[in-house]
Amino acid sequence: MKKVVSLLLASALVLGMVGCSPKTSGTSGAAGGTSTETSTKKDGQKTIGIAMPTKSSQRWIDDGNNVVKELEKLGYKTDLQYAEDVVENQVSQIENMITKGVNLLIIASIDGEALSDVLQKAKDANIPVISYDRLIKKTPNVDYYATFDNFKVGVLQGEYIEKALGLKEGKGPFNIELFAGSPDDNNAYFFFDGAMSVLKPYIESGKLVVKSGQTKFEQAATLRWDGATAQARMDNLLSKNYATEKIHAVLSPYDGISIGIISSLKGVGYGTPNQPMPIVTGQDAELPSVKSIIKGEQTQTVFKDTRELAKRAVQMADAILTGKKVEVNDEKTYNNGVKVVPSYLCQPVSVDKTNYEKELVETGYYTKDKLAN
Ligand code: BGC
Repeated sequence: MKKVVSLLLASALVLGMVGCSPKTSGTSGAAGGTSTETSTKKDGQKTIGIAMPTKSSQRWIDDGNNVVKELEKLGYKTDLQYAEDVVENQVSQIENMITKGVNLLIIASIDGEALSDVLQKAKDANIPVISYDRLIKKTPNVDYYATFDNFKVGVLQGEYIEKALGLKEGKGPFNIELFAGSPDDNNAYFFFDGAMSVLKPYIESGKLVVKSGQTKFEQAATLRWDGATAQARMDNLLSKNYATEKIHAVLSPYDGISIGIISSLKGVGYGTPNQPMPIVTGQDAELPSVKSIIKGEQTQTVFKDTRELAKRAVQMADAILTGKKVEVNDEKTYNNGVKVVPSYLCQPVSVDKTNYEKELVETGYYTKDKLAN
């Protein structure tokens, strides 16, 4: 239907019928309708639909803004939507984008396995799809994947614990508890497996002791990465297993979860000279966590520069839409159950008190002021 309207409009312009009408000059508002899409077609600008999971975490807000900024630099229009972690919202947002006729979709999924039907509709409408940060699974209709080296994120967290406790030097035994991310997010498995690739040998040799016995992903998982859920689990772990013994480290996959864990620890008296905080890892270098690191509460986070990821995804989008070669650097890791999705992996960086200035302030990710209070 929209194609027909554009065709009619195009022929009318060719015939000089509407060319001088004030209503049709300018870039916004199109003759015979209010849809931005018609004006999009007229001025040749393409629109990219961007579906993000939630605004409850700063990283996704930054991702959305950075993707929009990079697309606008290249002359694209954007339709950015957040679904507040409700899968059905995300599906209908994507459906709407398809109906509105976006030229390409960039999607950071909530549930990586819930988009097969809607992406079939994208395919039927010839709309290419880029999976953003999180792998979209169980569909052939995902063209490229822009992400970080997710296994390495976990390795960085595991290695941090290894080094901080002096495990390589044979120190121990130490008590540790393990947290994982959301079971509907493919990344969560990569983070956990990466961390366990470092920690498991120490658990097996007894240098790390998981007193709760909860060492499996399913036992450690945190649905939707929810900090409150993690806090409740930590309360439970502490009261059941650490009434008399101390905990020395907590593997946390994400800053929002770390904040929940730290609240729980403070609740039973950790964070004082007599009872120092255990090592608590994290991910995303979110502002509250970087401040917590500076204060000496959270110990570490993994910085994933969302500016870089946004640039990568936008380069991919532009290459697809202009018929150029799409740059990838990994064509074997990310099998989504139907195919291996060609990927570009950006590099994560471990950050703690000793290097946050270099990694976060000097690179302009945060200003000094922002971190001050
Ligand atoms: C992202 C992480 C983030 C987590 C929770 C994952 O898919 O890769 O950066 O911490 O989701 O939002």
